[in-house]
Amino acid sequence: MLKVITTWEAEVLLKERFPLFTQAEETELDRAPGRTLFSDLVSREYVPDFDRSTVDGFALRSSDTFGCSESIPALLRLTGEVQMGRPAGINVKQGSCVYVPTGGQLPQGSDAIVMLEFTEDFGGGTIAVAKPCAPGSNVIFRGDDVSNGELVYRRGYRLRPKDIGALAAMGRARVSVFRRPVLAVISTGDELVEPLEENLRMGQMRDVNGPMLSAAIAASGGEALYMGIVPDDPAVLERTLTEAVRKADVVLLSGGSSVGAKDAAEKILSGMGEMLFHGLALKPGKPTLAADIGGKPIFGLPGHPVAAYFIYCLLVRPLIYAMMSGSCPERSVRAKCARAIPSNHGREECVAVRLDGDTATPVIGKSGLITTLSGADGYIRIPREAEGVAQGDSVRVFLFSEVI
Ligand code: AMP
Ligand code: MG
Repeated sequence: MLKVITTWEAEVLLKERFPLFTQAEETELDRAPGRTLFSDLVSREYVPDFDRSTVDGFALRSSDTFGCSESIPALLRLTGEVQMGRPAGINVKQGSCVYVPTGGQLPQGSDAIVMLEFTEDFGGGTIAVAKPCAPGSNVIFRGDDVSNGELVYRRGYRLRPKDIGALAAMGRARVSVFRRPVLAVISTGDELVEPLEENLRMGQMRDVNGPMLSAAIAASGGEALYMGIVPDDPAVLERTLTEAVRKADVVLLSGGSSVGAKDAAEKILSGMGEMLFHGLALKPGKPTLAADIGGKPIFGLPGHPVAAYFIYCLLVRPLIYAMMSGSCPERSVRAKCARAIPSNHGREECVAVRLDGDTATPVIGKSGLITTLSGADGYIRIPREAEGVAQGDSVRVFLFSEVI
């Protein structure tokens, strides 16, 4: 019999046991999306580095435009033009103006830009301004975006494509990030064959968990090390586990974790290190185990792909984020449950759901059907003490998709 603990107990146990961080490494900007900052990112430059116009217009002294209107425009002398990418190199004196294109430098002496649309060229170097300008209008001042010395992102922040623009603006061609944790993936079972093998013999199944977990690891920001399929042979499994522990930061073993005669995982792991738990009060996912081998977390995930995926989401994914100092983003939405889901077996239950607007429809397949997941957008968690969910109940749907 398995001695089960709750998922919450497992989460706490893992968090306390494995405060592991990976080392720092440098990455180029184009490879930075999805990576997690190793240190606080403090700007070493002002963005922008000079006062610049946000419109095409004329730089002027705002005091010259006070009280002007369409019927009584302010008449200013045009004394020059600012070139893009060059210092303004010209002074704006009282009663004069200088043409500035969008993004051009604000010339000395001026304190505002009037938009071209509110002016008229009277010819002979005279510009008529039909609208008063407040000081600072249509100007981005030096450091308005980012100041020199400003803390822009904290350690543990996971960079997204949109952040790359800010880093580029600050001149950060390289950033210091956490090394991606390496997660070894081992599939076990005499019935398993590689997905690419063409013909299955009777009784064989293709390895689903290996490729699926590898893809999930990559999406969470880790690096998957697929170690292949291991038969239900304790000696081979022990050899493979030893190699996996040596090469990876975390090991995910799937299959062979229940108490069947051929399920050797627990025995081997107990011999190699310390068993942390064996059995979760969760449906699906009861035959889950975790061990600590030389300070590294080893998971025995259920063989059933749907169960393995849920355990990945609940326990492994947060660990990957924690190893890079970040908290795991729980992307969830509230929805109305389209159907009643009875659940009164004394275990927490995860149910995959499809989302249509704010309606969550359970996608319930027989245990062992992988396409249950393909049709789902997320899952709901029914607490062990709940009797299930009634039709129309408001439920929280945890989305499968990663942030990036
Ligand atoms: P086990 O945990 O080894 O008792 O396996 C439970 C069920 O999951 C069995 O039907 C296995 O065939 C299936 N299974 C185990 N590992 C995998 C895998 N890597 N891919 C697909 N199915 C698997
Ligand atoms: Mg098996």
